[in-house]
Amino acid sequence: MALTAGIDVGGTNIEVALVDDDHSVVDRAKHTTPTDGPGAVAARIVELIAKLDERPSAAGVGIPGPVNGGVVTRPPNLRNWPDEVAFGGLLRDALDMPVEVGNDANVGALGEWVAGAGRGSRFMLGVWMGTGVGGGLVLDGRPYTGAFGGAGEFGHMIVHQGGAQCGCGRRGCIEAYAGRASMERFVEIAIAGGRDSDIYVIRDDKGKDRLTSAVWAKALDEDDDLATELVDEAIEAVGIGVGSVMNLLDLDRVVIGGGLAEKLGQDLADDIAAAAEPWVLVPRDDRTFVVAELGDDPGVIGAAALGRAAMLVR
Ligand SMILES: [Zn+2]
Repeated sequence: MALTAGIDVGGTNIEVALVDDDHSVVDRAKHTTPTDGPGAVAARIVELIAKLDERPSAAGVGIPGPVNGGVVTRPPNLRNWPDEVAFGGLLRDALDMPVEVGNDANVGALGEWVAGAGRGSRFMLGVWMGTGVGGGLVLDGRPYTGAFGGAGEFGHMIVHQGGAQCGCGRRGCIEAYAGRASMERFVEIAIAGGRDSDIYVIRDDKGKDRLTSAVWAKALDEDDDLATELVDEAIEAVGIGVGSVMNLLDLDRVVIGGGLAEKLGQDLADDIAAAAEPWVLVPRDDRTFVVAELGDDPGVIGAAALGRAAMLVR
């Protein structure tokens, strides 16, 4: 059985998994992400792969930034990366094996499609609700990354022209309502304006310094008005976006993942389905909205699937 390495490069950690042909993780290794550029990241990956039980035949990598043909462009969360890096080639030389590189959100969606909540779908959208909002597409049974690798940026679809400020510099993006960073800013503004909420008490009780998904889930559980209002607004924004994607692409499945999905479960997927419904021109009962199944692993499992494909086309 061939083993492939699936690598998830995050802003904080690099995770490497040894994945078999059934998409099961058989071994794993993890270390912090070096902050001194792509060469150091490649060297760290080489070290991590050397620690695995067996040497993989190929490797796939998910990178938090735009990727086109193995070239990574200005990844916002990786420090000291130049504007453009041919990271695929760099890592292929360092590892001496076939390597394929993809955007982390696209790769995560691929993971859910091959081994998780997206199995059996032919037209799938994966939505990741985290600090930001990411996405990935499968169209007609193939992962779809667009002409220049930029497809799947669900979080930057506009749902309110001239709306809330987004981290990307534009206004009214889905991420400006449904990304945890934006939601946290709304809380700050509301509480500074005299709004009553226990959300900071919940955060402190949990010993966190940020409003994590667990803090949001607890605040919803306690019927905190502000938290409920902001999560409803997030769901509404994602629903409008999903409705528009449905009209354009006629999907059969939407997979919702990320911290909030893990905490709220299928209820979140159901709420998003309900929020999307008024915007869908041709409603159907056989479109399914489900939460991601792979926990922390869609990134490494999807990356391994990319690596397997790199081996086939070699
Ligand atoms: Zn944006």
